[in-house]
Amino acid sequence: MASSSARKYCANVNGCKQTAAALCEGCSQALCTKHFIDHRRLLDEEMDVIISEYNQFQNTFNKETTNFDSHPLIQQINEWEKESIVKIQQKAQELRQDLLEQTSINLKELSKKLQHLSEQLKEGREHDSFVETDLCDWKKSLDDLKANLTSPSTFRISQDDGIPLVQNVFVHSIETNEVFEQVFNNNVRIEENGLVAIHDAIIAYTEIRGKTEYTSGINSKSTPLQNLSYSSTSTYGWASNNFLWLNGQPHLDTSTYYIEMKINDVISLIFDCDNSKILMINERTNAKFELIVNIDHCPFPWQLHVILYEANSRVRILSN
Ligand SMILES: [Zn+2]
Ligand SMILES: [Zn+2]
Repeated sequence: MASSSARKYCANVNGCKQTAAALCEGCSQALCTKHFIDHRRLLDEEMDVIISEYNQFQNTFNKETTNFDSHPLIQQINEWEKESIVKIQQKAQELRQDLLEQTSINLKELSKKLQHLSEQLKEGREHDSFVETDLCDWKKSLDDLKANLTSPSTFRISQDDGIPLVQNVFVHSIETNEVFEQVFNNNVRIEENGLVAIHDAIIAYTEIRGKTEYTSGINSKSTPLQNLSYSSTSTYGWASNNFLWLNGQPHLDTSTYYIEMKINDVISLIFDCDNSKILMINERTNAKFELIVNIDHCPFPWQLHVILYEANSRVRILSN
């Protein structure tokens, strides 16, 4: 038996006076037999909660994978399909109508020519005054009429290379794993595993960079801002004092909307690498801004780049 001075007492929070008999490897608590059993039972209960949550999720997951039709975007695709079919059917109906009208005009003209030929033939026979050249001319007129009636060359269907009748759409995945990774100096710190960047109490420009490198597709991020500005030789973007930044140079924006980012504003940024442009939408004002990026000045990969200026300003990356 251990001497009393070496004895360890049960670590139960309610002040158990019993000698500790077992050590939990998980939380390093030494407990008496009774409280050790209680401790294991509590852990079992927590385990049960996790298993039950897992089972619920597994059910949802199975439904999701077997019932693909319930995918939230299916509805959108179905609507696109329906509207596109209606547009195509309407267009086909218009084309049939056009063809009918033009054919009937053509048939009227042919009918006139036929009538004219018939009169010539009748006259020729009655007067018995035709010669070889007349026969030759009539034969040619008749051949032309025949060809005109049967040949499809009278009409043709041509492609219109203008605006497509049906808007082409595509499915793409949206990156949601952007986080802040690099800071320029100690004036800014990154918290919450890269989701938040916080400026200290000093008023000064400082730079924060995102982790993800964008080279293709369309990448979208939502970010609420307190204050933001952009500057760097390859920078394209917007500043909250109504300036555009192109190739690192500020330009006063003269578009309809005033560029502003206020406290608690939610800003969506879309990097459309495929079309070399970036878009910004302020979800509060619904103002939408678009910039074409010169790839010579700002080659891929692109990176999220935020500059904070105001003291204690912060910016958070929201998941979609
Ligand atoms: Zn434990
Ligand atoms: Zn105890």
